[in-house]
Amino acid sequence: MFDNLSEKLDKALHVLRGHGQITEINVAETTKEIRRALLDADVNFKIAKEFTNKVKEKAIGQNVLTTLQPGQLMVKIVKDELTELMGGDAEGINLSGNPAVILMSGLQGSGKTTFSGKLANFLKRKKSKNPLLVACDVYRPAAIDQLHVVGDQIGIPVYSDKENNNPVSLALAGVAHARANGHNVVIIDTAGRLAVDQAMMTEIANIRDAVKPQEVLFVVDAMTGQDAVNTARAFNEVLDFDGVVLTKLDGDTRGGAAISIKSVVNKPIKFIGTGEKMDAIDVFHPSRMADRILG
Ligand code: GDP
Repeated sequence: MFDNLSEKLDKALHVLRGHGQITEINVAETTKEIRRALLDADVNFKIAKEFTNKVKEKAIGQNVLTTLQPGQLMVKIVKDELTELMGGDAEGINLSGNPAVILMSGLQGSGKTTFSGKLANFLKRKKSKNPLLVACDVYRPAAIDQLHVVGDQIGIPVYSDKENNNPVSLALAGVAHARANGHNVVIIDTAGRLAVDQAMMTEIANIRDAVKPQEVLFVVDAMTGQDAVNTARAFNEVLDFDGVVLTKLDGDTRGGAAISIKSVVNKPIKFIGTGEKMDAIDVFHPSRMADRILG
């Protein structure tokens, strides 16, 4: 994960490690290299610039020039700033309702259906919940079948009704089914399209208004870099979602989406997907991610 970024940041910070006495020029060079590494990781230009300005300010404020171990201090400053940029503290999901309703949103192919299964599995095994999955994609019967395959795999029931082509009434029926059958969590998988589309947004907003979920999660493929950030912005404008799920972090993702999405939409990343299997899910911890990035 983020191998290229980690390598480049390590190289940038390496310059300071070898110096007994460092100069302002060394610090300036290092921050320039850090900025380059962030840009290469597909972090938006403005964010990368603000980030390195903050690092530079802190480095000077904390007297990096006179400290005995400037390399270590810089690593700490960069780590703290990265943590802050990615959201500070980890944020959990709200499971307060009975049932708690979690609504998934995102483009087709982002990993929504897979993640719905992973989350249900996680809540069942780690939080002793009794989830129900609800298939609300009324356009692609294959998507409904896919959710059933996922549900069978993890032993979690799936509510679907191929006769019903109204996503709002389907979602409401799913929640009613959960209530009647003692499920304390409902995860609603919605239809995605290949690109941001007004009809898709309106449909998810209508489902949200009807079922009043505790959580609206936006699922996005981390491999798509700045596109992921732009898609997040478009979804957030309409849905004002509660949190982000970044999928496919197991691939050769450059890292830009993980680093910049929080500061663009001001919503926390709550979970990450790290593979196709049902247990490839992690709660997102900004500080652990920063540790990982800085090696
Ligand atoms: P949806 O259209 O948004 O419901 O997306 P799917 O759940 O069908 O996922 C699209 C593809 O991405 C499938 O082939 C999944 O197996 C794959 N996928 C989903 N999440 C991950 C992940 O975290 N890592 C990897 N490597 N593949 C994933």
